[in-house]
Amino acid sequence: SGVTEFDPARLAADTLSMLAHEARAAKVELHLESSRRRLVIRGEPVRFTQVLTNLVINAVHACEGLGGRQARVDVRFVPQAQGVTLEVEDNGTGIPPEVLPKIFDPLFTTKDVGKGTGLGLAIIHDIVQGHFGGEITVRTKVGAGTVFSVAFRA
Ligand code: ADP
Ligand code: MG
Repeated sequence: SGVTEFDPARLAADTLSMLAHEARAAKVELHLESSRRRLVIRGEPVRFTQVLTNLVINAVHACEGLGGRQARVDVRFVPQAQGVTLEVEDNGTGIPPEVLPKIFDPLFTTKDVGKGTGLGLAIIHDIVQGHFGGEITVRTKVGAGTVFSVAFRA
């Protein structure tokens, strides 16, 4: 397997540069907060990229057609005593309380036919738990935005 120790902040910089065009097209400011500490995650780097890509694309979609405030998606890493937490924050629509319990269900989507498969969060939830042994959580407020947090163990 491709399991190795890698610096998620460096990988995130490369991953986000691949998503820069998509963000610009959606008029979303995509920002990676630099972290001073040396960070290490153990696992397959390509799976980390998959997790981050899905979260960022969802965040960009949540910002579409907002009007008014500047849409933005912030990616940051928070060092923990045991491991590191990835946060992807947007100031988009937020997730209504009746929708929230379903977002990790396979095939659940609120997007138009052809625009969403409803598989993204189900797949990355499995990757985070099964591959990285971590946890994914969400805080959200309708009309204000959403933060997805992924806790990776050292
Ligand atoms: P898809 O993106 O194909 O709809 P996902 O599994 O990635 O499927 O997401 C499921 C649903 O969760 C989305 O349709 C949307 O309703 C909600 N969602 C996910 N991320 C966000 C976000 N950042 N802001 C608001 N809603 C979100
Ligand atoms: Mg998605």
